[in-house]
Amino acid sequence: MERTYLMVKPDGVQRGLVGQIISRFEQRGYKIVGLKMMQISREVAEKHYGEHAGKPFFQGLVDFITSGPVVAMVVEGKDVVATTREMMGATNPLKAAPGTIRATFGVDVGRNVIHGSDSLESARREIALFFRPEELVDYGRAIDAWIYE
Ligand code: ADP
Repeated sequence: MERTYLMVKPDGVQRGLVGQIISRFEQRGYKIVGLKMMQISREVAEKHYGEHAGKPFFQGLVDFITSGPVVAMVVEGKDVVATTREMMGATNPLKAAPGTIRATFGVDVGRNVIHGSDSLESARREIALFFRPEELVDYGRAIDAWIYE
């Protein structure tokens, strides 16, 4: 089953949105297989956002993502990478579709409360960057028979 990396950013943690954000993925039927709070180092932040190195917002982005704790998770389920991106909404919350996480909770591109992998390849890379293999849990849920046909 597909897995993705999701992270409530420091603004989401400070604003007390962790529970509501995690709930959305649980309610959709997705299974949390890894979950932790952590403070990201600059080194890891620069690696995570490496594709944006050199862009005008890069330093601000690294400053921001390292400015306070984040809640990192690995979530598993059918088509989870694309579907959680849809649930998050567009990068700029003002452009995000109504009802999405970013539209519900944000107005600024630099304070968009959540990160989610944008492809299977970045999901694999980001899961490996933030979680050790033994931090991920394999388990079944009785409710899966009511979520998947
Ligand atoms: P996403 O998080 O939707 O995958 P990107 O990978 O393009 O988006 O950008 C990573 C993060 O960098 C965004 O979530 C946002 O917080 C920040 N960001 C992107 N573009 C800008 C911008 N033009 N100005 C400020 N911050 C930005």
